[in-house]
Parts: sequence; C-alpha cells; structure tokens
Amino acid sequence: MIPRSTLKRLANEHGTPLFVVDHNALRRSYAQFKKYLPRVQAYYAVKANSDPAIVKTLYDAGASFDVASMPEFRIVYEHIRRMPPKERQNWIWDKIIYANPIKANETLQELNPYKPLVTYDNYEEIKKIRKYAPQAGLALRMKVPNTGAMVELSSKFGAAPGEAVDLFLAADQAGLTVEGLSFHVGSQTTNFENYVQSLNLAASIFKEASGRGYTKMNVLDIGGGFPAPYDNTVRPFRELARIINRELDRLFPEEIQILAEPGRFLVATSAVAVSKIIGKAVRDGKLCYYIDDGVYHTFSGVIFDHCHYHFKAFRRGSTQVCSVFGPTCDALDVVSMVEELPGNLRLGDLLYSENIGAYSHASSTWFNGFPPAKVVHINQ
Ligand SMILES: *Cc1c(COP(=O)(O)O)cnc(C)c1O
Repeated sequence: MIPRSTLKRLANEHGTPLFVVDHNALRRSYAQFKKYLPRVQAYYAVKANSDPAIVKTLYDAGASFDVASMPEFRIVYEHIRRMPPKERQNWIWDKIIYANPIKANETLQELNPYKPLVTYDNYEEIKKIRKYAPQAGLALRMKVPNTGAMVELSSKFGAAPGEAVDLFLAADQAGLTVEGLSFHVGSQTTNFENYVQSLNLAASIFKEASGRGYTKMNVLDIGGGFPAPYDNTVRPFRELARIINRELDRLFPEEIQILAEPGRFLVATSAVAVSKIIGKAVRDGKLCYYIDDGVYHTFSGVIFDHCHYHFKAFRRGSTQVCSVFGPTCDALDVVSMVEELPGNLRLGDLLYSENIGAYSHASSTWFNGFPPAKVVHINQ
C-alpha cells in the first residue's frame, strides 16, 4: 500500500491526473504467484499493462511473457537482446509465448526467424502458420467454461474440446509440431471451479491424443484469470493455488511443463490513480463530482474491463452517495454513479483509486484532447 502522504506529495510534484506504479508491489505479487504455484512458470500477459518499466521489473524478477502483438514482442525482446549469447540459446519458449490465436500473415513472417511458440485454434490458422511461420511451435487454445468471470473470453477464442485432437493431427500433417494445450478461464475468475473443469478437460484431451497416436505434448498453459483482491469477496490466491496444485499433481506427470499467463493478478495491486476535483454540481438532487481523469483515460476499465473502481478522499467529512464524472464532453464518461464520498469536497481536492494497475492506463486514449495520466514509478 502506498502511503497517502506519498500520493499527495507526488501529486503536488507532478500534477494530476497521475498514475503511480509501485514496483515493490509488482515484485510482491510475482513472488506470491511463484510461492503458491511453484510448478508453474508465469508468463506475464503484457496487455494488462505494457509499460516497459513494469516489464523490466517482472523480467528481472524472473518472469516470462505472454505477448499478442509485435510491439508487445519488442518490449520484451529489448531484455532478451541483452542476455549473454549462451543464455540466449533457448530463450524464446522460456521467455515468450505469442498467445494471440489469430495472427496476421505479416506478423507470422516477422515472428518466424525467432522460432516462437504461438497459439492457434482453427484450420485456417494452420495454413497461415505453415506458409508464413513454419519454424513456430504450436499450442492449441481450447475453449473452456468462463462461468462467473468478470470478463468472458470463451466466445471469441478457443477450439471446442471435441475438435482438439483433430486440430493437433491436422497441424502435424501440415509438418508443424503441436507442443501443448492452452486455455483461459476468463479474466478475474472468482469461480475457482472453472480451473478444475478446464484442467480435467485438458487431461482428457492429452489422453485422447496419446490414444490416437499423438504423443508430442510437452506443455500445458493454464492461461490467466487469477483474480486480483479488489475487495474482500475475492477468496485468497493461496486457496485457488491449492486447488490448481492438487489437480496438476493428480492429472499431469512431472515432465509436462506448466505455464500460466497472469496479467491482472500481477499488476492490478501495483498502481494507484490520483485525480483532482475540477467541478461540482447537484443534479436531480444528487451530488456530482467532475474529476480530471475518466473512462477514456485511466478509468477505461469501467467500459472495457467491466471493473468498478472506488475513490478515497484525503479530506474527511460525512459521506453521501455521489456520481463521479470524467472531464470529457461525452455523456459516456461516467466513472461511477454510486460512490460514497464526503459531501464537503472542494474544487482542487484530490481523490485516489487503488488497485488500478491492470487494464487501465493500457487502454487510455487522447479523446477530446485530454492526454493520458502521467505515470510515475516508485521503488523501481
Ligand atoms: C488477457 C489475456 C491474459 C491475461 O488475463 P488476466 O485475466 O489478466 O490474467 C492471458 N492470456 C491471454 C491469451 C489473454 O488474452
């Protein structure tokens, strides 16, 4: 937790809107992930927050990376380039998975020389990979239940489990090698049963594959979805980890490498947004605060991530239910319609929102001429 006095000092020094990233918090969440899931290598999903300084801290802590575009690939590759040549030999699969099941031909062409590990989930993609990235290794993305996730991902990606082995064999016949299976249970998954069902589905597909003569499976990628502790309804990570470890040990032999792609879990708790009240009005009897950050900016997660952020004020006072609006002229720019805040806040007062590191600044725009919040890094 960043002390309030630090937030205030940084806001005075740098102005608002401000996005404060605490690198100790990043290291803590990475260490927690490793501690409770010792068999699992964490590939940080760069899309959650692609700030190069965040990537660097996680890289130095020992993380690997899930990228979904060439610009993300390059942010990670910056660090690989500096490795001693000897260590660099088998770097790619150890450090990067290109986990976007749909890739443009140009992207595949650019990736091919690196001999990357990429995901796929359909027959057209096999043809593309064969033609443009024949050196790639493959992991099949399988569709799994996303029940109860805050952000559902199963309607856009994933082969039906019943098709999985046919897709392994099709890739094999095209001269490609399928190394493993991946899935994503949906982001901010508080229903731990999704992992149990997905791991059991994956194990049954491994079994079907070997029954049908396909024995090249080395990798299981259990994706992202690990929930950030946004509030006390989210059960502790160690409980989820215990369930996952139990299923992994029961279903998958030691030699199967287990990967995961945590995004939100690693970065959500590492950042705080500090904003300033720039307007105040009463509309239909309700107190409305206007701040200098909004849903086109740091609070983009309200729209894209279905995430509800809370505000805290530095000034004390008796609270009431307020609306908090962003600075743009768009009526969509509503950060919250139900925020419990002191009624006596004044123009120029600061507010802050914690646990806003994931899917926030990453999808900030310049809409209406308002620039994204300034980013400051502490404990780097
Ligand atoms: C977004 C994404 C992730 C990260 O998910 P979180 O819920 O943030 O952990 C991981 N893998 C893939 C393929 C993704 O698209």
